[in-house]
Amino acid sequence: MSETLATIQVSLPGGKARTVPVGTRVLDLLADLGAEIARSAVAARLDGVLVDLSRPVRGDCTIEPVLPGSEDALQVLRHSTAHATAQAVQELFPDTRIGQGPVIENGFYYDFDRDKPFSEEDLAAIEARVAEIVRRDLTIERLDLPRAEAIALFEKEREPYKVHFATTKGEDTVSVYRQGGWTDFCRGPHVRSTGQLRAFKLLSVAGAYWLGDEKNRMLQRIYGTAFFTQEELDAHLRLLEEARRRDHRKLGRELGLFSFHAEAPASPFFHPRGALIYNRLIAYVRELYARYGYAEVITPQIFDASLWRRSGHYEHYRENMFFTEVDEREYAVKPMNCPSHCLMYSEGRHSYRELPLRLADFGRLHRYELSGVISGLTRVRSFSQDDAHIFCTPEQIQAEVASVIRMILECYAQFGFEVRIALSTRPAQRAGSDEFWNRAETALEAALVASGHSFTVQPGDGAFYGPKIDFFVRDALRREHQLGTVQLDYVLPERFDLHYWDAADQEQRPVMIHRAMLGSLERFFGILVEHCGGAFPLWLAPEQVRVLSITERAAGYAQQVGERLRGAGLRAEADLRNEKIGAKIREAQIQKVPFMLVVGDREAAAGTVAVRSRKDGDRGSATLEEFLAGVLKSNEQKHNE
Ligand SMILES: [Zn+2]
Ligand SMILES: [Zn+2]
Repeated sequence: MSETLATIQVSLPGGKARTVPVGTRVLDLLADLGAEIARSAVAARLDGVLVDLSRPVRGDCTIEPVLPGSEDALQVLRHSTAHATAQAVQELFPDTRIGQGPVIENGFYYDFDRDKPFSEEDLAAIEARVAEIVRRDLTIERLDLPRAEAIALFEKEREPYKVHFATTKGEDTVSVYRQGGWTDFCRGPHVRSTGQLRAFKLLSVAGAYWLGDEKNRMLQRIYGTAFFTQEELDAHLRLLEEARRRDHRKLGRELGLFSFHAEAPASPFFHPRGALIYNRLIAYVRELYARYGYAEVITPQIFDASLWRRSGHYEHYRENMFFTEVDEREYAVKPMNCPSHCLMYSEGRHSYRELPLRLADFGRLHRYELSGVISGLTRVRSFSQDDAHIFCTPEQIQAEVASVIRMILECYAQFGFEVRIALSTRPAQRAGSDEFWNRAETALEAALVASGHSFTVQPGDGAFYGPKIDFFVRDALRREHQLGTVQLDYVLPERFDLHYWDAADQEQRPVMIHRAMLGSLERFFGILVEHCGGAFPLWLAPEQVRVLSITERAAGYAQQVGERLRGAGLRAEADLRNEKIGAKIREAQIQKVPFMLVVGDREAAAGTVAVRSRKDGDRGSATLEEFLAGVLKSNEQKHNE
């Protein structure tokens, strides 16, 4: 046709297409989409790959702008802010060497090698310098250099960490980004110029080993975040502040819920108030078990190592287990309940009529976690799960999984969590026949569709022994946590040679479903403390009502009120101290007691109480029986009050 060698076809959003000379920059193509898009775009996707706007186009392709408001744009903005931070650090502290600076969830970090740690004042000065670099509006250039040239460049700049990357990463050519004479080894992409950076904040400094290896030198990691608008940044900083206020380690101490002791590293001690909440959680799960047909079992803590060889844990999970030796036999403390439930199942002959068999176990588990990853209740060495195993026929998988999903969604709704669900399907390396996988995946998917809840599919993310469903919840601070899982297992019934007899009296292999709702109760406890900021709903609160006497004369009546409440099954205490009533109220408020009943001479004479709630203060006067009826109803129905 025409002299096509010099021109190419570019498809743009909205069905637009253009013929342009080879080498046209992406940015010039975006001009076709309007001045506003061309002005605000921070990068583009070229045939799906994120690229700089300055990238020349070499062949027929599709181009989409990356605009503020998208996750892509935020990542580019944050990484470009990380570069400006590193430039600022080296301008202010020229003897500092730069490590790496990736984007992370909610922000970015950059690692620096400097003998003297950065102080709070240093951080403020660096932030001010970043603002100045933004004002300079430096053009950000990409250079594709032959590897040897890039290495020589970083050697000349005395940047050993960058030499390491230029040597070990990239292809024959290595990309380098330059802004105002400052260079960094980087894959990009970046915004066009530092003037495109918007709202940012440097948050903290912490030590971090080079490449995460404790044998390496300790670098200093500066954490920061960036957004396209000041409003978004302010909202994020408010959330961070709230998260600090709600930190479960801090609240756990203040509310007297739990403690840790060096004698049992990373193993929580629940104090009376904490244990009360913990046991209320278990009681709630037991209510669900009663309705959803689970049978609870109790199994041993320590098993002969042969059990773990048989289950495969000895081979694959050994580093996470605690061992002990008795009578010259090797024993292991259980890290999970599954093998003991298999032993239980193997006892006796099961007809298909007995299935499904749903065995629940709150047994204490022990897993060795490195001390480096231990922080509060998030990862502990001693914990228990709301763990259960369902043994069923292949035909029953779908109905069983559907029932598990209903129970899990009911449970999360009780705590006011938003839920996200993901289905993970067969990985390349797997056990079991295609027939098993086809049936299992189809059953899980059908159960999810029937639940009416949306879900995503993560192809290839299943375990090697079966597909799984993961449940994620979003807490009050918009943070996501993985809680529940439903996992199909073909391998353990095989390893333990489990059977059932079908209608034709033929031996068949049952399917095992591992499932947990809250997961580790310790970890859930920590999530819940932060989700409700220590203000536990009435039905979980360790102290539900506190009676406060105004005068010593009213002490007797206050005591009677407390007894009446306790007699009705509520957790109530009376504060009879000779203190000002304002101070007593403040204290109960700090301890987040849901209801306070203030009583003086008038209340004693009339048999009434002045009701205060921690949420909305004074609720006026009521007879004791009126108040009691309302609270009992809320407690029984588990209103999230
Ligand atoms: Zn970079
Ligand atoms: Zn299990």
